Amino acid sequence: MGEYICNKQTDQCERVASALNDIKSAAGNPGIGGAAQSTLEGILAFYGKEGEDNGVTITTQGERGDKDVGHTTADGKPGAGRPVHVNINLAKLDGLLEHHTKASMGSEWAGIVAHEGRHGMTLRDHNVNRRAAEKDNELDGYRAQGWVNQGLRVNSMYGLWKQGESTLNTDAVERNAEESTEIWCQSGGICP
Ligand SMILES: [Zn+2]
Repeated sequence: MGEYICNKQTDQCERVASALNDIKSAAGNPGIGGAAQSTLEGILAFYGKEGEDNGVTITTQGERGDKDVGHTTADGKPGAGRPVHVNINLAKLDGLLEHHTKASMGSEWAGIVAHEGRHGMTLRDHNVNRRAAEKDNELDGYRAQGWVNQGLRVNSMYGLWKQGESTLNTDAVERNAEESTEIWCQSGGICP
């Protein structure tokens, strides 16, 4: 298991650490199913532990008015240890969450970290250059995010999961993935 480097003020690094703890709790809930558990465990392995370089850097830049809550890019070629940069736009996320409960804030933050981590896993495996690949990438991201909500038993503000449901809301996963793919297209992705 590798380790990530958090390039920001300590309080933000603490929030990353707490998100990873929440993802771990979610992964430990057998109610989400084996595929979901192994995905979340894969994400935790991707991030590793704080402090030692495994090629993953986490930053928290951005403005409240930006389109993206999270953004993940990579250098070089796909493969183990490929440098991956995860940015979570904390200003935007905090804005979206300002009227939410503490449990909801924690699960959304953890969900975004899982979503971006899932993108990081994809980028270690292959580049994402076309719309169809980006759509798959986003479907994977939103599923991982929804499984965090489900594992923590906290309703998703994106509608990905709600209490009483035994599975994710596939319509919400699809809708959010399509929206993010469109943002990707508008930001210079190759889209027909
Ligand atoms: Zn995404």
